[in-house]
Amino acid sequence: MRLGNLDNRPVLISAAGSVDVEQASRGRFSADFAALYERWGDVRAWVEDADFAVSAQPFDTSALGNPVPAPRQIFAIGLNYADHARESRFAVPEWPVVFTKWPSSLTGPTGTIALPAGQVDWEVELVIVVARTAHQVAPERGWEYVAGLTVGQDVSERVLQQAGPAPQFGLAKSYPGFGPLGPVVVTPDEVADRDDLELGCLVNGEQMQKGRTGDLLFAVPELIAKLSSVATLLPGDVIFTGTPAGVGLGRTPQRFLADGDELVSYVEGIGTMRHRFTATEIRTTDPDRPHDPNNR
Ligand code: ZN
Repeated sequence: MRLGNLDNRPVLISAAGSVDVEQASRGRFSADFAALYERWGDVRAWVEDADFAVSAQPFDTSALGNPVPAPRQIFAIGLNYADHARESRFAVPEWPVVFTKWPSSLTGPTGTIALPAGQVDWEVELVIVVARTAHQVAPERGWEYVAGLTVGQDVSERVLQQAGPAPQFGLAKSYPGFGPLGPVVVTPDEVADRDDLELGCLVNGEQMQKGRTGDLLFAVPELIAKLSSVATLLPGDVIFTGTPAGVGLGRTPQRFLADGDELVSYVEGIGTMRHRFTATEIRTTDPDRPHDPNNR
């Protein structure tokens, strides 16, 4: 099953087209994404029993929005591939490095992202969507708590990230648009091997990252176990699982995103996201304070 977002409404996506969840279920499921993830088991059972081919509508893939627009919690994992830990000059972690991206940084799988001052870098990641409340889950049951998988970019501004005596990931990765998700949420049964998927990203057509989720130091079920040993995971929460080698910070010479660059990000069996970066001035919500990129 593949769940997408068209006009801020949940839709089922197949080769035949899109099916509006609220309409096709005759209101049994609402058009609210948070409510849908809350009843994920019921949604799965309903989809398995129904035949939607006749009601599927053709749609424009570039119109797809963020399929997880309002998670209550966003977890993100740093240094979860050994080759990326090495290129970042950090030790390979013995426990996951956990931080958050704030929900206001989320955006859809296509569109334009404004570049703040500094060094803006790419991090393609497999992203988990949580299916049900999880606390103290054993690793062997981790996959039972996964609603689906999607593609994410953990876009990162490296100057602010390294501005303190210790790295501070959250704020430097939470500028508007720094958390694209999509193009769809795919249930794990739909991919070839849920434990080993190719992921990568390209800048202006040039491959920058290419890895496999089989190389995750803490794999999906282990992350559910580790995070839920402390926090309670809630339906519709998202977990950015970490990025493989090839980020701009780790390259020689270093390379960062510039005005006009196109970033294409993919995970095998899930889909592709496409974003354009622009240096155009960022709007401020304070009318008396024009945006000053050097004033944080
Ligand atoms: Zn990351």
